[in-house]
Amino acid sequence: MSPAVDQYGVFGHPVAHSLSPFIHGVFARDTGQQMTYRAYDVAPEEFTERVAGFFADGGRGLNITLPHKIVAVEVVQELTARAAHAAAVNTLALQGDNVLLGDNTDGGGLVRDLCDNLGLIITQRRVLILGAGGATRGVLAPLLGLEPAIVVIANRTPERAEALAAAFADLGVTQGVGFEYVGETPFDLIINATSASLSGDIPPIPAGAIGPQTVCYDLAYGRSAMAFVRWAQQSGCVRAVQGLGMLVEQAAESFRLWRGVRPQTAPVLAALKARIGSV
Ligand code: NAP
Repeated sequence: MSPAVDQYGVFGHPVAHSLSPFIHGVFARDTGQQMTYRAYDVAPEEFTERVAGFFADGGRGLNITLPHKIVAVEVVQELTARAAHAAAVNTLALQGDNVLLGDNTDGGGLVRDLCDNLGLIITQRRVLILGAGGATRGVLAPLLGLEPAIVVIANRTPERAEALAAAFADLGVTQGVGFEYVGETPFDLIINATSASLSGDIPPIPAGAIGPQTVCYDLAYGRSAMAFVRWAQQSGCVRAVQGLGMLVEQAAESFRLWRGVRPQTAPVLAALKARIGSV
């Protein structure tokens, strides 16, 4: 017997703090979609079995968050090109032919926030990404698609930055370095994709990398982004932003894949900023 309402959700561990049920609940209400969306705490050792169980019970789609994004690549029958590039999946969608599709909407969400919400121009601009983990890998292809002059990837472990720069060199001009080799020429955009803020640490980049025209963007949001945002403001950037917009935009991309309708993002972003604090 099929359920009356289509079921969606997010698998993570931990996941109690997730804002996704709120975001998708507002999207569903605003677009008149009949669906439910719940957060499921799923331990790594039960991930594959729980995914199979969710879809066997009639589930239609899942968001996948930490720590499951990489292993999720293994459970799908088909990958979108951007998920293949990212080697990570944040969205599962059961298609009409019962084929499970894996997508990665993180990079598309970031690009939407940068270009549509913040009105930034990336083409021919100098971009610095701090960090060379899963988030950086996920956003590189969509970012390079905007044809920046260069994307410099700087990381605490320089070899990981060098490897990522090499892996994406066919999509644009990339360079991988350690923090101290970022240089003194100001960047137009600095994206913090490290998890350093979680412990209040700031990547030690040269002071000259931030100029009066530099926009600083932390992929993290809420309290986790405060250390970087404050540091960027004190360093004289023109604007410092947290990653709430990316979170909402990646959710909207997932919603569109599942329901075939793209929800308005401004109302839910405004509600979240009021709830969490806006920068
Ligand atoms: P990850 O794969 O664990 O990578 C963590 C990165 O941070 C690595 O490059 C690591 O360097 C670096 N790092 C950790 N601690 C550091 C420190 N104290 N100083 C300097 N560098 C440090 O994590 P991830 O999945 O890429 O996530 C990164 C951030 O993006 C998180 O804050 C996450 O919440 C955020 N995010 C936000 C969204 C959104 O929708 N807004 C989406 C995805 C991710 P090493 O390589 O040297 O270890």
